[in-house]
Amino acid sequence: MSNIDNKKCRPGTRQARLHQVASTKLVQADMEAAHSLRPVSPVRGLHPDFLIAEHFYQDGPPYWTDRAGRLPQTAEEAEAARRNLVRNLRKADTHLCSYLANLIEGCRPGHRCRSEACSHCRRASQRAYVHAASRLHKQSDAPWAAFCIILNTHIRGGSDIEHTRRLMRQVTNEPHAAFENVGVSWAIGGFDVSYNVFGSSANHKDHPAATSGKFQPFFHFHVYGHAPFHELHAAKPLLKEMFPATKTNKNTVRISPRPFDGHLASLAYAMKPDFCRRFTILAHESEGGIWERQDSRDKPLRVSERVLLALMLHLLGPGGRFFLHGTELKNDKSGDPVIRLISET
Ligand SMILES: [Zn+2]
Repeated sequence: MSNIDNKKCRPGTRQARLHQVASTKLVQADMEAAHSLRPVSPVRGLHPDFLIAEHFYQDGPPYWTDRAGRLPQTAEEAEAARRNLVRNLRKADTHLCSYLANLIEGCRPGHRCRSEACSHCRRASQRAYVHAASRLHKQSDAPWAAFCIILNTHIRGGSDIEHTRRLMRQVTNEPHAAFENVGVSWAIGGFDVSYNVFGSSANHKDHPAATSGKFQPFFHFHVYGHAPFHELHAAKPLLKEMFPATKTNKNTVRISPRPFDGHLASLAYAMKPDFCRRFTILAHESEGGIWERQDSRDKPLRVSERVLLALMLHLLGPGGRFFLHGTELKNDKSGDPVIRLISET
């Protein structure tokens, strides 16, 4: 894909030759960008032919409200988010960003880009996931629990896309390896990310939180989802060893104490389509070197953060936000998304 106009030039003229050279350069640059942004790996559990039906891109069912009574993102809101991101990517003025902007801008019915950076495709993934996960829960006899695990990999960003690719591969492998080790037979969910920024209260301007390199901002991925209640609770001590408390977060492994009630908003949270900049004010260092939080607020991402995040999300590949452990996501005969336990297939 390129920005070049398909202007008609008379064959053999100098203008036609220049146009040809410019087109060839752009095609080569696009090929290089596509290679740099290739998916980190195939998504485990996602059937290679899996497609999200077009109606999940529209404003139909499934419907849900979260616990605060908020409605999910509409197609119109997703379109506004797409326009905003395309504008941000074009301003960044690198060929990787231009390539991604063109890809996302070209997403339309019948020709979906399937990039996790695309707000339309991300929203449709969430709605397809809610539909499939809810069906699985209704067929399930054993209780489920919700879990949230803050992964060990921090990503500070930068221009080295190959370094970011290595870190993204770590992100996607971490929860699979952990669940295999602790005996959680299956799990479903999604990868979420926040940009964590730290500061000190106004009374503590020389606070290490504001001055030390240890508290530089970073992207932090976590996986949220559902798995068998009893397996998760039995595995909790081992999971806490694998994902130890960090200097700024004590609760890296959270498992709901009560069985999952089937609320669609909880399923939807696993694949929430928007991301935030989490600003945390650290109060003081407690025993064990963990910093107590005074306050934490969610704010919109800044332009440069949004651009970097878009590149990282795109590296996950189509459907790369799905976390499918011991499960697979495919289309049934009618084209509906369905999640099955691999042990039962
Ligand atoms: Zn798309």
